[in-house]
Amino acid sequence: MHDFDVLVLGSGPGGQKAAIAAAKLGSRVAVVERQHMVGGVCINTGTVPSKTLREAVLYLTGLSQREVYGQSYRLKDDITVADLTARTQHVIGREIDVIRSQLARNRVRLITGTGRFADPHTVTVTDPVGRESKVTADKIIIAVGTRPARPASVDFDERTIIDSDGIINLERVPNSMVVVGAGVIGIEYASMFAALGTKVTVVERRDRMLEFCDLEIVEALKYHLRDLAVTFRFSEAVAAVERHARGAIAVLESGKRIAADTVMYSAGRQGLGTELDLENAGLAADSRGRIEVDADFRTAVPHLYAVGDVIGFPALASTSMEQGRLAAHHACDEPARALSEFQPIGIYTIPEISFIGRTEDELTRDKVPFEVGISRYRELARGAISGDSYGMLKLLVSPDTGRLLGVHIFGTGATELVHIGQAVMACLGTVDYLVDAVFNYPTLAEAYKVAALDAMNKMRHLARLRD
Ligand SMILES: Cc1cc2nc3c(=O)[nH]c(=O)nc-3n(C[C@H](O)[C@H](O)[C@H](O)COP(=O)(O)OP(=O)(O)OC[C@H]3O[C@@H](n4cnc5c(N)ncnc54)[C@H](O)[C@@H]3O)c2cc1C
Repeated sequence: MHDFDVLVLGSGPGGQKAAIAAAKLGSRVAVVERQHMVGGVCINTGTVPSKTLREAVLYLTGLSQREVYGQSYRLKDDITVADLTARTQHVIGREIDVIRSQLARNRVRLITGTGRFADPHTVTVTDPVGRESKVTADKIIIAVGTRPARPASVDFDERTIIDSDGIINLERVPNSMVVVGAGVIGIEYASMFAALGTKVTVVERRDRMLEFCDLEIVEALKYHLRDLAVTFRFSEAVAAVERHARGAIAVLESGKRIAADTVMYSAGRQGLGTELDLENAGLAADSRGRIEVDADFRTAVPHLYAVGDVIGFPALASTSMEQGRLAAHHACDEPARALSEFQPIGIYTIPEISFIGRTEDELTRDKVPFEVGISRYRELARGAISGDSYGMLKLLVSPDTGRLLGVHIFGTGATELVHIGQAVMACLGTVDYLVDAVFNYPTLAEAYKVAALDAMNKMRHLARLRD
């Protein structure tokens, strides 16, 4: 008899939801988590702090109100790090409290310390003062996540040269910043600091950014960021960073030198699978610390599961939670449907982006015909009321079936609005539903109807020419 039916390593979104689902199914469950990390990267250094910081930036800078009240509108002229962190710390504290309470209510034991495998059913936990104890379990779910990848050649000092974890510890809002890497995290922070007035330069090795997104929407984002004085250096790489008393100089391989108060590396993340002594359990992680799983999130050792960022793409809190729930169901022999193919992507830049389904480029590459329906916020009453004239919603519709192939949104509320498209797609609805539906007025959701009518009119025009 083991100590627990299910043991979860890590209390981020994947681990949390796995533990609670297993407990709800009647299992005896424990979670091992390091000190001061309840809630994982998601609550402590990643999703929640960055999204709260964004909210604070939008509120204090008054950026989203400037179309209404004029370009000089600001809620506060001199925004300090204290203004920003007050909100962040408040939200982090609340979220940790909610998680602790949910675990306790569901009788999930929280064991504080760092876990490593001693054998396939036993984990050695080292507590914060270095004492070791052993915990055994019938099934183990690994949800240990990732940490920022740090190039060995860069001398991080947590002040001038930082990674994305260091943002929340900055002592002041920098006047200038180099962001190395134009992935989601890099570009989200680039847009927040640009909104605060920091002169941001983004250096990206590839020749474009966010290549999995709709090209038109990425172009719109770049236009907005340039308008906030962001400089893009695509097809460029940082060769070295020199640290000086009053800042740093990023030296590019092309020979360019960029002075900045802060250099932030956002160059991918390293899985923590390599730090678990997996070989004692008969498992191995790849060179990026990731663990391979099957469709049920089972590793090569059948009673060991892995979920969340440690299994790689898409490495989102949203998906990690669902992976955790499904793994727990499988581990507890409870039937569950497979992970839905309709997963939204949200990018919390300023302005924000969200999409679901396929892009124009992907459909064109695969020779799938589609019609485009567009709605621009400036033609919606709610767009004018909210002061968002740049937002847009684009539907990609199959002319053969009327089904939605993709929904792409840029601007206010994008990450919320995408779920209307998700529901229509997942319920196998067609563009007719959106044409016929009555939406509240004035809303941004109305964009769906306008875009659906646009696509429908184009398809009707084509059909009439054929008749
Ligand atoms: C800046 C930033 C912004 C982001 N924004 C978004 C967003 O807007 N939307 C979104 O969906 N996702 C976002 N993400 C991604 C999201 O945070 C992750 O996908 C999510 O946190 C992964 O969840 P997880 O359960 O895999 O583990 P994590 O949240 O990474 O947590 C893993 C936990 O395991 C613990 N652990 C590690 N090793 C051990 C061990 N040996 N023993 C015990 N415990 C251990 C760690 O302490 C940690 O608490 C963002 C990430 C970052 C960095």
